[in-house]
Amino acid sequence: MALIVHKYGGTSMGSTERIKNVAKRVAKWHDAGHQIVVVPSAMSGETNRILGLAKEITAQPDPRELDMIASTGEQVSVGLLSIALQAIGKPAVSYAGWQVAIKTDSAYTKARIASIDDAKVKADLDAGKIVIITGFQGVDEVGNITTLGRGGSDTSAVAVAAALKAQECLIYTDVDGVYTTDPRVVSDARRLNTVTFEEMLEMASLGSKVLQIRSVEFAGNYRMPTRVLSSLTDPLMPLEEEANSGTLISFEEDTHMEQATITGIAFNRDEAKITVLGVPDKPGIAYQILGPVADANIEVDMIIQNQSVEGKTDFTFTVPRGEYTKAMEVLNGSVKAHIGAGSIAGDSKVSKVSVVGVGMRSHVGVASQMFRTLSEEGINIQMISTSEIKISVLIDEKYMELAVRALHKAFGLENA
Ligand code: ADP
Ligand code: ASP
Ligand code: MG
Repeated sequence: MALIVHKYGGTSMGSTERIKNVAKRVAKWHDAGHQIVVVPSAMSGETNRILGLAKEITAQPDPRELDMIASTGEQVSVGLLSIALQAIGKPAVSYAGWQVAIKTDSAYTKARIASIDDAKVKADLDAGKIVIITGFQGVDEVGNITTLGRGGSDTSAVAVAAALKAQECLIYTDVDGVYTTDPRVVSDARRLNTVTFEEMLEMASLGSKVLQIRSVEFAGNYRMPTRVLSSLTDPLMPLEEEANSGTLISFEEDTHMEQATITGIAFNRDEAKITVLGVPDKPGIAYQILGPVADANIEVDMIIQNQSVEGKTDFTFTVPRGEYTKAMEVLNGSVKAHIGAGSIAGDSKVSKVSVVGVGMRSHVGVASQMFRTLSEEGINIQMISTSEIKISVLIDEKYMELAVRALHKAFGLENA
């Protein structure tokens, strides 16, 4: 007998028919003698629908109130799944985040989990119940409902698994694992049997939405075995087969690596680039530009400072596209005058494409192959950033899919 956490995404919970299938699958695991905790997302489209209602009222809704409404999608899901399990004779109980409690900080719409109380869940499991906990939401110190950012149910699931010291966290989704790139963009992308934790962390942070980045961080910090697999298979398929399907996130030293140079290609469509032109090249300038941006809770990603000419330089950085207007406001406000910048230019139609692989450590020439491939397609590189296991380029958004396909081919990632 093992304690296992299942997570089901929006598509997997997308209709009452699908929820009944989830119930059958969960019941199968419970019947096999396992203790099961389930963390579902809202039904697909529901979070968007709810957030859209707020946007119909005002362009900048209060984040606390957004969390109040966005969290309701998951509350419906847990109740429906519990009802579906009870309808087939299984003991089940559902909880909202605050009932568990999953405590978070108060950063509405992107809260971080601080602690999870396992007492109530453990007692229910010991009493033979299947416990269903809302994904995506938590509660702050003073009782406000918070949410963990889009795609946050992955993080709820892995965090719950870590808190309960589960044997494994199974992330059921609408694809049958982690692929070399998004199979919606490259139809002959290949499923990976294993992906190292480091690679998954890079891919998630560089835009592969199959797992929310914080879920991968939790998996790494707690060494929680985490597997991505399909919820769209026959729910009654043999349990052994299901348990070994999909993609397992491995911790490098535990696994024999597939010896490829590049493991996958990640992309993020929604980037924006800002250039502060003609800033005096003197100590403290990066801080004076980026400090106020950070204070506005805007994440900065790629950064380039040009060679200075006659004591002046240009300073370019990228932010998530959704934060572009806010970042421009911050810079055009007090910052521009304070630092004596010439002007501020922006482009909100850029995307980032990255090649990722631990094999890069022992292979040279990955960057040149990447740049040659892009140049052969006539794609201009606007910014570059690298780490030991990834190379990212910023390009015009209209070439993003072309770049992903060309690189996928150039690095031989397609299905054999
Ligand atoms: P869920 O609702 O189950 O959380 P998501 O839509 O958040 O599902 O994540 C699954 C989707 O992630 C897939 O349908 C796929 O289009 C996308 N995706 C992006 N990159 C990858 C990748 N490298 N491997 C697999 N899926 C990917
Ligand atoms: N329902 C939330 C969202 O759409 C959380 C999740 O699906 O993981 O972002
Ligand atoms: Mg998701």
